[in-house]
Amino acid sequence: VLGRFARGVVHDLKNPLNIIGLTAELAGQPDATPQFRAQAQERIGHQVERISSLVSEILYFTQNDPEKIVLAPMSYAEFIGKLIAELKPEAEMRGASIELAGPPPPTMLLLNPKRLARVLFNLIHNATDAMGDGGKIFLRFGQTPREVVTEIEDTGPGIAPEILDRLFQAFATHGKEHGTGLGLSICKKIIEDHGGRIWARNEPGHGAIFSFAIPLPKKPLIC
Ligand code: ADP
Repeated sequence: VLGRFARGVVHDLKNPLNIIGLTAELAGQPDATPQFRAQAQERIGHQVERISSLVSEILYFTQNDPEKIVLAPMSYAEFIGKLIAELKPEAEMRGASIELAGPPPPTMLLLNPKRLARVLFNLIHNATDAMGDGGKIFLRFGQTPREVVTEIEDTGPGIAPEILDRLFQAFATHGKEHGTGLGLSICKKIIEDHGGRIWARNEPGHGAIFSFAIPLPKKPLIC
């Protein structure tokens, strides 16, 4: 288990490191424009953040007594808008596209944007893994009197029956050479730290559908 875990982490680190290496090399070319260098700096900074957030998630996961998560009021539409702008180019690089079926609700929720970003990142990353090249990821949003629900559907083959009943357990992985089986267990922990819930299903003729719900605050928050 430890060997598999280590291989998976190394694999997850390799991607951002490759981007950093390549971008630094291009930015160092004598004919690189100042504009390109500025873009490269931003891109490298972003990948460093990604590595650092991966490392902190591993720590978060392995700690026995994690610190209580800090939640702050934020508009869900604003959170999703910023995150999708970051995730879209990355998905495109892997041949996938992300489509929003409708606008996310501008409801104020109590969120930890960094941690919640990891949930969407993990779910979208899994979807692109499952689809191979050229798939589509659909994001849908809904709101009930109690919670805001987000659905992520892909055009892949769906979740293998062998793993369906232990999907959110740590180290449960199936059909991936480098899987750690940690991604979905981390998603579950983060969503539960928001007081919410997460679940998944297959539907005939569709790929996997993952959903999570974040509760509305007990007292309405002012924008
Ligand atoms: P890992 O990706 O490292 O295996 P996860 O906990 O993120 O760990 O996922 C566990 C397993 O769930 C994956 O190995 C895969 O078999 C399955 N899975 C997750 N997302 C999808 C998806 N969108 N489509 C099909 N299978 C999925």
